[in-house]
Amino acid sequence: MALEVQGGKRPYIGRFAPSPTGPLHDGSLLAAMASFLDARAHHGKWLLRIEDIDTPRVVPGADQIIMTQLRALDMHWDEPPTWQSRNMDRYQAAFDTLMAEHLVYGCACTRQELPWGAYPGTCREGLPAGRQARAWRFKVPPGMERFHDRWQGPQEQDVAGEIGDFIVRRADGLWAYQMVVVVDDGAQGISDIVRGEDLLDSTARQRVLARHLHIDYPRVMHIPVLMDDDGRKLSKQNHAEPLDIAHPMHTLNQAWQALGFPPVVASDLASFWATAKSQWAKRFSVS
Ligand code: GLU
Repeated sequence: MALEVQGGKRPYIGRFAPSPTGPLHDGSLLAAMASFLDARAHHGKWLLRIEDIDTPRVVPGADQIIMTQLRALDMHWDEPPTWQSRNMDRYQAAFDTLMAEHLVYGCACTRQELPWGAYPGTCREGLPAGRQARAWRFKVPPGMERFHDRWQGPQEQDVAGEIGDFIVRRADGLWAYQMVVVVDDGAQGISDIVRGEDLLDSTARQRVLARHLHIDYPRVMHIPVLMDDDGRKLSKQNHAEPLDIAHPMHTLNQAWQALGFPPVVASDLASFWATAKSQWAKRFSVS
């Protein structure tokens, strides 16, 4: 109802959703910076969600380090942070909804049994005799998924044909990223996702899943990701260095330039952000 009152326009709520697998590095700062600026340019909220659902990859204490790094860069979130590990009931409820609508099924296939490419639907009509369900898959309906990306332009993907029924609950019992991200973005009323383009390929899947969970999927903007010297995405796995927060202005300007903007000459962090915000608003026609 509240949304109706505003003429159908959703209040801007953005988020930065780091996985606490280590400190932020120059690559992850790009997503933090772009999502922060887009929220500020829209006079919206910027939320911090710690995506600690993939427990084997979580590094204890990394969430606190990430928060310390963001504070040191004068990047402040507008509500208390949330942790996915505390939202288990929410994911179960979403799964139950899908189950009740016969939109998920147990799958016995191991990775070795599957061909490269789209899931062939082996267990869609029931488990092969004598086999147990390991993971749970979402039944993707046929059809082309089309959407607009604010950085990348028009996009389309035949999710059923190119990806096939995808996993919402993993064989190890953990909720899959595609599932939790959709459920949380919905529960937190996220209006806008700004993240790295490595996740562009997940967006069509998330949109289809959101629709079947009756969630209004956010607008999206997928920004460039930083590559290392070997052309791989800069990541903790590739031993990217933690952010240099001893020199915050330099660190911020590096990320800002990697996003394609000219360096900002500013005497303090507040004026860096004020300038960056107005340039961002101009470039993306945010009024
Ligand atoms: N947790 C994911 C990551 O660190 C980001 C998820 C998202 O922004 O949708 O790559």
